[in-house]
Amino acid sequence: MLESIKWLGHASFVIKAEKVIYIDPWKLKDGEPADIILITHDHYDHCCPEDVQKILKPDTVIVTTPNAAGKLKGNVKTMKPGDKLTVEGVPIEAVHAYNARKQFHPKKEMGVGYIVTVGGTRIYHLGDTDFIPEMQNIKADIALVPVGGTYTMDADEAANAVNTFMPKVAIPMHWGEIVGSEKDAQRFKELARCEVKILTPEK
Ligand code: ZN
Ligand code: ZN
Repeated sequence: MLESIKWLGHASFVIKAEKVIYIDPWKLKDGEPADIILITHDHYDHCCPEDVQKILKPDTVIVTTPNAAGKLKGNVKTMKPGDKLTVEGVPIEAVHAYNARKQFHPKKEMGVGYIVTVGGTRIYHLGDTDFIPEMQNIKADIALVPVGGTYTMDADEAANAVNTFMPKVAIPMHWGEIVGSEKDAQRFKELARCEVKILTPEK
């Protein structure tokens, strides 16, 4: 399943399996049309209507938070933390994502992370978040983990997070654009006790 996950830079991913699933598409050159688009919160680097347009087809389902839904046109479904939904046969869970120790992502704005199950593998995109108590109950095989600091966890905090819920593999993200560098990804890899794969953005 790992090889079907492509990092498009920052928090932007595409999973190409039975369905084409984008998460937080941003700065796309062009892209394969999406079956499902997941958007974690309304910030411009995660919820970009122009990028969504590039991959939209008539039956694409967009899943996002109530806050971000107003920015998007199409078949939009909203989820709050704790909600579960199955879209085109793909189980999707929305989980909490927020800052516990800084003000950029207050819990009350109800940003989310997503756990999507593809081919039996639970892929967890953490969204923009700190290490929060709710993560103790997460079960995930592959985790897409912000490590850039400032707006999200830094490398040390991100390692503490994955060492708590212990995915099989973690992929550092939210570095290389706006905040964070490869050094953060490397430090995360040193401190995490699970396997870490540092990807190169595919554009
Ligand atoms: Zn954000
Ligand atoms: Zn962000």
